Amino acid sequence: MKSCPDISHSEKGLILSGNTVFTLNGGIMTENLDPFEIAVEQLGKAAKIMKLDKQAFEILKSPQQILQVSLPVRMDSGEVKVFTGFRVHYNSARGPTKGGIRFHPEETISTVKALSAWMTWKTAVVDIPLGGAKGGIICDPKTMSQGELERLSRAYVRAIGEFIGPEVDVPAPDVYTTPQIMAWMMDEYENITRRSSPGVITGKPLTLGGSQGRGDATAKGGMYVLKVGAKKKNIDLSKARIAIQGFGNAGQFALKLVKEHFGSKVVAISDTKGGIFLESGIDYDALVKHKQQHGTVQDFNGAKNISNEDLLELDVDVLIPAAIENQLTGKNAEKIKAKIVLELANGPTTPEADVILHKNNVLVLPDFLSNAGGVTVSYFEWVQNMGGYYWTAEEVYEKLDKKMTASAEAVLETAEKYKADPRMGAYIIAVQRVADSMKARGWY
Ligand code: GLU
Repeated sequence: MKSCPDISHSEKGLILSGNTVFTLNGGIMTENLDPFEIAVEQLGKAAKIMKLDKQAFEILKSPQQILQVSLPVRMDSGEVKVFTGFRVHYNSARGPTKGGIRFHPEETISTVKALSAWMTWKTAVVDIPLGGAKGGIICDPKTMSQGELERLSRAYVRAIGEFIGPEVDVPAPDVYTTPQIMAWMMDEYENITRRSSPGVITGKPLTLGGSQGRGDATAKGGMYVLKVGAKKKNIDLSKARIAIQGFGNAGQFALKLVKEHFGSKVVAISDTKGGIFLESGIDYDALVKHKQQHGTVQDFNGAKNISNEDLLELDVDVLIPAAIENQLTGKNAEKIKAKIVLELANGPTTPEADVILHKNNVLVLPDFLSNAGGVTVSYFEWVQNMGGYYWTAEEVYEKLDKKMTASAEAVLETAEKYKADPRMGAYIIAVQRVADSMKARGWY
């Protein structure tokens, strides 16, 4: 039953049903949650709808280069611990590859590959002249001291130094990596090359060539996309009730910005330890203070503690997954009551959930569009670094608004034209752009 052209990646134990892949787990059918297989499945679905050239598809279903490195780091105890790191260049047809670095205890090469593919579609859907890449180190930054994190960051750059560069591949922050980590990495790169190279990495502190507006760029970009989505669904955002999963950079700023931009009320939010629900609305400043004092959002004054799973199923207008992959799945998709899902996380919705949500008329604003504000301001940062001339916050936000609004409108129009969901609309635009660049280069 060949429903899409990506069957070649389905090996023993994978069964395709419609557009959904299942794995046989001890005889029980379970949804396939392998991130890279999901990424290729999504691409295959888009390739079928847009009738993508077969050879272009063959190139696009694998990364161009994968580097795995082993990083010996002296810990504070004196002992040497060896960490594993990855950097994947997915596609460079449109320009130097671009994408963040994650520090995560459950990092896998499959996740990094999937994220590098999504970066390729992300830079293409907002039409910035960059390709896609991703990096990761298997580590638990929550248990490491600043000194250990610095030595790990510098060891990573020494190991991947030949693989990155302002005109080669440009890393940035992602899950559990910060502007300080970017600063150490840039410094190490400059130590190796003996050149000033601020454009080697983005998301740096302002004092080292970072851009105005990079801190809240991911959530800010999401606001412009949400505005386009709400118009389409006829939702008045000033009266909307919102739930946010995650309290990292994206989730935290989303809490602040939905109120600032639209006057919406956030009734629920969570972190890795669990969530809270407060009908009267959650105050940003008070919650940030609470989190600093207690290390969690739970037990917040007047709020009810809930689980991360409960949060997703709340009766709200807008749900914002802003944590990690595979949160909306075949298991809970039928129970999602939100009218709009704004994906600020990468990969929060599985293909099976996509089908159910679309059937139930939930507007899913896809990750690589909704969270592209981060890489868009990274691109602005890189442009400023290469030109040595810096912009005001107003200039950055104005340019970001234009890019995100135009991209979101184009995605929804394309989805309508092809009678597909917005994720497929975004894929069709992005994949076509990458395929056109590959064609012009003579790659196929
Ligand atoms: N890590 C962010 C993302 O997933 C930003 C990447 C970048 O700025 O290069 O989009």
